Parts: sequence; structure tokens; C-alpha cells
Amino acid sequence: MSKIRTRFAPSPTGYMHIGNLRTALFEYLIAKHEDGDFILRIEDTDQQRQVEGAEEIIYKTLKDCGLNWDEGPDIGGEHGPYIQSQRLGMYKGYAEELIKLGGAHYCFCSEEELQKQREEQGDSFKFDDPCKHLTPEKVQAKLDAGEPYVIRQTIGKINETTFDDEVYGHIEVDVNTLDEQVLIKSDGFPTYNFANIIDDHQMQITHVVRGNEYLSSTPKYNLIYDAYGWDRPTYVHVPPVMKDEHHKLSKRNGDASFQDLVAKGYLPEAIINYIALLGWSPETDQEIYSLEELIQVFNIHRISKRPAIFDLDKLTWMNGEY
Ligand code: GLU
Repeated sequence: MSKIRTRFAPSPTGYMHIGNLRTALFEYLIAKHEDGDFILRIEDTDQQRQVEGAEEIIYKTLKDCGLNWDEGPDIGGEHGPYIQSQRLGMYKGYAEELIKLGGAHYCFCSEEELQKQREEQGDSFKFDDPCKHLTPEKVQAKLDAGEPYVIRQTIGKINETTFDDEVYGHIEVDVNTLDEQVLIKSDGFPTYNFANIIDDHQMQITHVVRGNEYLSSTPKYNLIYDAYGWDRPTYVHVPPVMKDEHHKLSKRNGDASFQDLVAKGYLPEAIINYIALLGWSPETDQEIYSLEELIQVFNIHRISKRPAIFDLDKLTWMNGEY
């Protein structure tokens, strides 16, 4: 078996909360349990949604918790994280290759044209893109004339939409919900989804661990892996950490921020111990673990499918044990 490689791939769109940190911790433990690599990749292609200072908080939080990443570009003798906005040049070449492989196509539709197509076809979200049916000569003529375009994923007629997830088991997604998403925007930059796939492949990620909100789009990712002839990664989708029964923790609202908890006197070791047991259960009833011990005992198959609720009293109790 190849070396296990996981990555934490946050978008710096808010302050890192306990739920984000738990995803990073699970990725770290999955890799380290098998003596594998843990990578940090900042997904900042959507510059408009960025929150100032969020990136620094991600670095500080991981370091404070001892979740050190294993590689990245050299920054003054230390390895920095991979940063997507510094890798923008390469994604378009990959998209052009995907077009040749039949997994994507140029779309020259204006916003008005798209609107018209959606209305005519009776679906505001998914539509059959007329540009898919342009002849190669027509496409070339439009490119030569400098017409603006995006590159869209092509979803053919017969597509497999099932996959196995390590936490949720066998997943089947309705093919009708899969839209031909944009991969390269009109400014030549990749969309978040496309950059994510290319990077996971390039970085030889074996286990993709992320929030369960991505379960429904995973078949679209798989179609892209298949079109390139790349091996799909193992998927480990995790349920959210909730503020209460009905609300997820939110980065944008600054909920349960790790740095705020540390400022209030909670120890990083206690927070790590607490969140490890939030949605994952060990085989014994031991409750206090060091990071080293967690690495030893961690097992993907004991991650729960059920959302966990952040419980400050429990964290306070655990903090008292340190
Ligand atoms: N950048 C995504 C986020 O912050 C993570 C997606 C992934 O891990 O695949 O939600």
C-alpha cells in the first residue's frame, strides 16, 4: 500500500473553530497512525470571500496544537503551506487537457444566454449547455475571435454516481442533481472545486477528509478523476460540529474559536483531547489522551456519522484534568 497522505485544506473565509480544527486533527491522526504525511493547503482562489488574518490564525492554531505539517514550499528554512493562489498558472493547462479527454468543454454563453437556457429548459440550476454541441471548428473560431469563455465540466449520459465513504458507507447520488459546474472562470482562474481536485491529485493525497456537505458533489469529483484516468482517493466525510441541536458552528460568526478558548485559559492539549472524542470513540472508556496516545489508538472506522454538539462544560472538565 502507498504511504498515507492527508491534507487539511481550509479556505481562509473565517476564524478557525473547533469543528475545523477537528477535521485537521482527524487528518493528522489518520496520517500519523500509519506513519504517513499531513499536508496543509490554503484554498484561497475565491479572494472575495477571504477574511483578513484568517490564514495566520490557521497556522498559529495548528502549531499551538502540535499538528505540524510535513512539507510545502521553502520559506526561510521552514516549509510553508501550499497556497493555491500561488499555483494559479497550472490549473488552466489541466482543464485544457480535460477538454481533450472529453471531461470538459468551452462554454461561451453570456449570463443572459445562460438565464434563457435555464428558463427554456425548466431548471434553474442544471441545464444542457448548447456549447457542448459546438463543432471543434466553431469552438476554434470563437477562441480565435477572442470570445470570452469559461470551461465547464461535461457530464455525459451514463455516469456512475455511487461511491463508498469510510464513514457514511455506500452513497448514491441522483444523477439529475449533478450540474456541469464551471472549472475555469472567465478570468482564467480555477473554481474552488477544480483546484481542489487537481491539487489532491498532484499532492498524491490518499485520504480526503472533509465535511459531509461535500458528499453530494463527490460524484462530480469522481467523474473528473475518471476522465483523467487517475485513481480516486479514499473519502472520509465527517459530520459537522454543532453549536446546538439546529445550528452548525460557523467560521464567519466566530463561533467556538480555538484562539478565544485559549485566551480564556483552556489548554491546547485539553482542547485537542476534547475534540478527538467529539465524533470519534476509542475502544476503551479512557477519556484523557495525549496527542501521541491518540496517534496510537486512532481508527477511522470509529468516527461517528452523527453530528456532535460542542459542550463547553465537558471541555472545562477535561481542562481541569491537565
Ligand atoms: N476548502 C474547503 C473548506 O474550507 C475544504 C474542502 C476539502 O477539504 O475538500 O470548506
